[in-house]
Amino acid sequence: MPAGRRPGKVYLVGAGPGDPDLITVRGRDLLSRADVVIHDALVSPALLGAARADVERIDAGKKPGARRDTQSAVNRMMIARARSGRRVVRLKGGDPCLFGRAGEEAEALARAGVPFEVVPGVTAALGAAAAAGIPLTHRRLASSVVLATGHEDPAKPPGSIDWKALVGAGTLVLYMGVKRLEGIVSRLLAAGLDPGTPVALVRWATRPDQQVVTAPLRTIAVRARLAGIRPPAVLIAGRVVRLRRRLDWAGRRPLSGRTIVVTRAKDQARFLSDLLKEDGARVLEAPAIRLAPPLSWAPLDAALRRLETYRLIIFTSANGVERFFARLPEKGIDVRDLKGIEIVAIGPATAAAVTTRGLRVAAVPDEYRAEGILKTLRAMEVGRVLIPRAAAARDVLPRVLRERGAPVDVVPVYRALPAREGMKEVSAALRAGEVDLITFTSSSTVTHLIDRFRGPGDVRLVRAVPAAAIGPITARTARQCGFRVAVMPRQSTIPALAAAIVRRFKNSPSGTPRGW
Ligand code: SAH
Repeated sequence: MPAGRRPGKVYLVGAGPGDPDLITVRGRDLLSRADVVIHDALVSPALLGAARADVERIDAGKKPGARRDTQSAVNRMMIARARSGRRVVRLKGGDPCLFGRAGEEAEALARAGVPFEVVPGVTAALGAAAAAGIPLTHRRLASSVVLATGHEDPAKPPGSIDWKALVGAGTLVLYMGVKRLEGIVSRLLAAGLDPGTPVALVRWATRPDQQVVTAPLRTIAVRARLAGIRPPAVLIAGRVVRLRRRLDWAGRRPLSGRTIVVTRAKDQARFLSDLLKEDGARVLEAPAIRLAPPLSWAPLDAALRRLETYRLIIFTSANGVERFFARLPEKGIDVRDLKGIEIVAIGPATAAAVTTRGLRVAAVPDEYRAEGILKTLRAMEVGRVLIPRAAAARDVLPRVLRERGAPVDVVPVYRALPAREGMKEVSAALRAGEVDLITFTSSSTVTHLIDRFRGPGDVRLVRAVPAAAIGPITARTARQCGFRVAVMPRQSTIPALAAAIVRRFKNSPSGTPRGW
């Protein structure tokens, strides 16, 4: 260990059952500060994105039939890295100690004298029960629950599972049993479990592609085969399974079973995605654009040097606000230097970005398009105008202002560039015919997305999916690019867009063919 450095440590962290938001606060915090992350196959890629960009990432996903020494190799990796002073997060699906071998790993660490900490996680049984609407215990129906594995360790003699003890519980949850489902069912029946016992199989619990099959014990194996249930899934058996009929909150959400592509610059995608996920959608984020600094700051810097000559600043996007204000301190300017200059913001999100900085917005044009601002300006006395905005944006506003005799300085504060990230996942979903809707929140998201899918086959696939556009201008661009715009809110805001999408799908029940 280099002198003066803290000794390393290993954190055995539970990642939760599938939904990346179901990790503990402690787990996420450790993940974001880790030097090394060693993770399993079941851990969500989205969760790994919470780690630092320069983290050493090791995939220790053990495929069935992998070499026997994998576990000791993992142990050696953890020990060596911790000894060199690094913070190692050993990230495991669900809870690290439930059928997760963290017990063995902790023993190895203890033997090696390496400090460690265990951070629990929401295990698959609890995730599946919650997401499928099955309370594992219930005052009337079950007062005990057993978590067991349906998979016998090949190293142990057959028959090491005490099936009689398992069927005695009010509710039984079996992990790792899907592949041997028929054998498991016959053992449970032989051990005395009633063939009419309600059973649920939950695959990919808590994820948007979660699948649930329910049937009495005697037919569950056939039903699972017909539904194509494969690992990973847990089996829940007991009278509590019946409650699902009334408590299936997840399956009843308006966008449940829908796949929606969100195309926004990455740092802004979150808000729309969160709204859609809340309503049960599987959201694929295809950041069609990425924001970059302008090619030159010189025009803005020149404008800032004569700030006192401006009568009005017009912001046309929240990004413009953010990038403009980020530049001020670098040039030694204080927000109080803006005194006497009126601020106009196009659209409520842009206005909010201004007001959170403690500044008043003189007007928010009632139309959220550049044309709308002119109506407002007519009511104001216009002097010199500054418009900090994207490098390549529509030109209506400055042109019309100049026609009215106002001197206008348009300065670029950011550039919108095409991004590739997320395209692979979107491509795969398009090919599989899984995408129900593509959302566009600006004209540039449309053109950039089309640019990304240059291959003629791909462009056809993208255009075959109905589109949702935030407003009339975006809708027009989408139509010009060959999309069919199926959703457009009356108000051009993200919440209105999300609400319009929900309304649209409500009117077309799940299973409605694509292209409704
Ligand atoms: N430590 C993990 C379990 C690992 S064993 C935990 O606490 O959840 C792997 C088994 O867990 C799988 O075979 C499956 O039975 C179950 N499992 C893990 N994630 C699951 C998920 N999202 N949905 C359903 N079952 C899951």
